[in-house]
Amino acid sequence: MLRPFCVTIDDVDPEECSALVWASTVLEARGLGATELSEWLDDPDTVEGVTAEPASLTDEHVQLWRPAERKVERRPEVLRGTGFHRDDSDFCDDCGLASFGDVGAVCPECGMCSECGHAEDCSHRGGS
Ligand SMILES: [Zn+2]
Ligand SMILES: [Zn+2]
Repeated sequence: MLRPFCVTIDDVDPEECSALVWASTVLEARGLGATELSEWLDDPDTVEGVTAEPASLTDEHVQLWRPAERKVERRPEVLRGTGFHRDDSDFCDDCGLASFGDVGAVCPECGMCSECGHAEDCSHRGGS
């Protein structure tokens, strides 16, 4: 059964370098993560210095998003739902999740994402 893992490289800020992978064991997750984040590793052939921790996803989301095969996750809605963000992300004032381009785009006026909807007094409310 595949589970989501958050992979990070020891000694590197997880803000800068982390990956979400689906694997059945921690070791598998570390292997996938090492390949994905190899530019941060002295020796990409070992999983030394690579840490994998269970990602914080609800059971509901795990069931919804679980892929058929182990892999590195790249779907923006999944990364967003797990709390990842990109360099150009905005953060929703309400749920705190990051935008991934159009996915969960944050309103420039009320600061809320497309999933939370606009604030009561936002002029974009009800419109586009
Ligand atoms: Zn939101
Ligand atoms: Zn708004």
